[in-house]
Amino acid sequence: MIPLSVPSIRGNEWKYVKECLDTEWVSSVGSYVDLFEEKIAEYTGARFAISTVNGTAALHTALILAGVERDDFVIIPNLTFAATANAIRYQGADPLMCDVLPGTWQLDVDLLERWLESHTHYDGTVLRHSESGRRIQAIMPVHVLGNMADMDQLMTLAKRVELTVIEDAAEGLGSYYKGRHAGTIGELGALSFNGNKIMTTGGGGMLLTNDEALAARARHITRQAKTDPLEYDHDEVGYNYRMVNVLAAMGVAQLEMMETFLHEKQHIANIYTDAFKEVSSIFPQQKTDGVKANNWLYTIMCHQSRDLMKHLALNKIQTRPLWRPMNQLPMYKDLPYISEKDISRQLNDSCLSIPCSTNLKPEDQQEVIRQIQQFYR
Ligand SMILES: *Cc1c(COP(=O)(O)O)cnc(C)c1O
Repeated sequence: MIPLSVPSIRGNEWKYVKECLDTEWVSSVGSYVDLFEEKIAEYTGARFAISTVNGTAALHTALILAGVERDDFVIIPNLTFAATANAIRYQGADPLMCDVLPGTWQLDVDLLERWLESHTHYDGTVLRHSESGRRIQAIMPVHVLGNMADMDQLMTLAKRVELTVIEDAAEGLGSYYKGRHAGTIGELGALSFNGNKIMTTGGGGMLLTNDEALAARARHITRQAKTDPLEYDHDEVGYNYRMVNVLAAMGVAQLEMMETFLHEKQHIANIYTDAFKEVSSIFPQQKTDGVKANNWLYTIMCHQSRDLMKHLALNKIQTRPLWRPMNQLPMYKDLPYISEKDISRQLNDSCLSIPCSTNLKPEDQQEVIRQIQQFYR
């Protein structure tokens, strides 16, 4: 089986993890957590980085910091992984889903802007959904597959109606918009180090911000909101969201490999893009102007995607469709969905991610290409 995208452990992971085990600093106190946070801050250019147990926890924490409360709405792209919407529900709020663009597969900011003009009112402090009267408190662009939305346009719009911008940059480590790293453009950003992401700690996440007060509060609530080093005093409901030292050790080692991973991902993407130029049934994802993408998961829009998926599976090649859009999931189907042409549904029907592990062998990649070309012949 040629897998879709698997971790690559070939740096200092063993060495750093062994050091944790040898010194018995395995849990939530230890030097690697601080070091990993420092290294991520340095890598992304964020002033502050706060580690979490996973990307979903980082998103949830960001929503708390953004003041999202029960019955609020938070705007998200309809095409995303369920964790984006679920994190909003953890706060008792609801996602307000907006369709995406057909070429870049990112939030359609023009469409959103038009909808906001006709369906909401802003009284100078609060943006409200006119029909329900509910507050719209934040917007969460998702950097789908490491590409990004038009962030200049999005930030301008958000500023005008005072929406806090939380970037779901779970897939965006190593991606840049006009020189700024994914997750550092809005007030808050969340990264993920889940097993399928460009680098991994097995499971893990990181909250990014340039705001010192937000960073301090993030640290506080992800570490049980304890106010005294000895006495068990807590000043609010806290969460046990901190990353543990063994996993941070792995993170430090994986981060050392990021330049290599990015280079390998780019190389794999180039070969696929070249090979599929001649295939009229395949359309690669277009990059938003100003984006330097990490090429995390190579995904094609194609004719007969599910038949192609079966053909490749029969030939021991693993692929994956793009997510079921949020407006089709039972938990969210009755909520507002901003859309004219339901591009999300079309993309879910026609997109397929194909093998692109950083350690993908050239002969395996050629086999994937050969099988896809054969399917369309
Ligand atoms: C992976 C992912 C998450 C969740 O991250 P975890 O670390 O798995 O909790 C959230 N949003 C998107 C878009 C993702 O791809």
